[in-house]
Amino acid sequence: ESDRLIDAEKRGEDIDTTLRPQSLDEFTGQADARANLKVFIEAAKNRGEALDHVLFVGPPGLGKTTLAQIMAKELGVNFRSTSGPVIAKAGDLAALLTNLEDRDVLFIDEIHRLSPAVEEILYPAMEDFQLDLIIGEGPAARSVKIDLSRFTLVAATTRLGLLTNPLRDRFGIPVRLQFYTVAELELIVRRGARIMGLGMTDEGALEIARRSRGTPRIAGRLLRRVRDFAEVAKAEAVTRAIADEALTRLSVDSIGLDQLDRRYLDMIVRNFGGGPVGIETIAAGLSEPRDAIEDIIEPYLIQQGFLQRTPRGRVLTQRAWGHMGLNPPGDLAA
Ligand code: ADP
Repeated sequence: ESDRLIDAEKRGEDIDTTLRPQSLDEFTGQADARANLKVFIEAAKNRGEALDHVLFVGPPGLGKTTLAQIMAKELGVNFRSTSGPVIAKAGDLAALLTNLEDRDVLFIDEIHRLSPAVEEILYPAMEDFQLDLIIGEGPAARSVKIDLSRFTLVAATTRLGLLTNPLRDRFGIPVRLQFYTVAELELIVRRGARIMGLGMTDEGALEIARRSRGTPRIAGRLLRRVRDFAEVAKAEAVTRAIADEALTRLSVDSIGLDQLDRRYLDMIVRNFGGGPVGIETIAAGLSEPRDAIEDIIEPYLIQQGFLQRTPRGRVLTQRAWGHMGLNPPGDLAA
C-alpha cells in the first residue's frame, strides 16, 4: 500500500462523501460524457426501459463511481455496488443479480479484475437477463436457468485494454473519461471550499487546481491538507501563498507531480538517457507494480506531453527534460 499523497486510488476519506456531486447538473467537467448520458437516461426513462449497460473507462479518481451513483439517482432506481476483486465466486455474483429489481443499476468497479468463471455467468446475465447455473457436480450436474430483472450494469475500468473482447462488446454505452482542465478543477475546489466553510481566494483555488494532476479526487485531498495549514496559520482564507506553502511542503510540485512522478522521470533520465525503455524495466527499477505505473503515473505524464509510448519503449520528451531543469540530449534539443 502506497501512502502517496497524490495517489489517485481510493482511500478512507472518500467515504466522507460530502464533496460528491449528487446530480448531472452539479457534476463539473466531462461535458461530452454528461451530455450523452443525459440523452440516454432521458430516452430510457421515457420508454420505461432499463438503460443499456454502461462502461466507464479512465484513470482513478476522475468520477466513475460518482457518475454511476448519479445515473441511478436520475433514473430513479436502486444503486447496488461491488467490485471485481470482491466477487470471488460465481455464486456471489448470482446472489447480487437475483436481488436486483427492474431497471436497477448494478455498479461493478474494477471490472477487469473479475475472475473468468464469474465473467462467464455475467455474459448471459447482461445479454438475456438470465443466469445459467450448474448445480451439482460430475454426472449428476445439471444446468438451471433463472430469469433476472432487466437491470443496467454500470462498470468501471482504468484501461479498456484490460478487458476481454467478449466482455467489452457487451456494453452498449462506452464512456471514456478525460483528465479535468485547470478551470474545471478550480470550480471543483471552490465548491469544495464552500461546502467545508473554508475561505478561499481565487488565486488559492487556482493554485490547488493547477497542482491536482487533472483529478478531482486529488483536488479534494489537497484541499483538505491545505485547509489544515490554513487553520493552523489562523488564516481567514486560503491565499496563493498558503496553498503554495502547504503543497510545497507536501512535495507536490508546480504542476502537481509528486515524489513518485519525479522518481519515474529521474530514473529514465539517469539510467536510460531519457529512453526508450520498457515498462517492465521501469517497474523493476522503481519497485512499483507495472499496473500502478500504467494506471496512475503514466496517463498524466502522457497527457502533459512529458512522455511518449513507442514500440521500443517509453521516451521522455523535451518538455519533460525542461520541467526537470535539464538539457535534453542532442537529437531532442530543438
Ligand atoms: P473513480 O470512481 O473514477 O475512481 P470517484 O467517482 O470515486 O472516482 O471520484 C473520486 C472523488 O472525486 C470523489 O470524492 C468525488 O466526490 C470527487 N469527484 C469526482 N468527480 C467530480 C466532479 N466532477 N466534481 C466534483 N467532485 C468530483
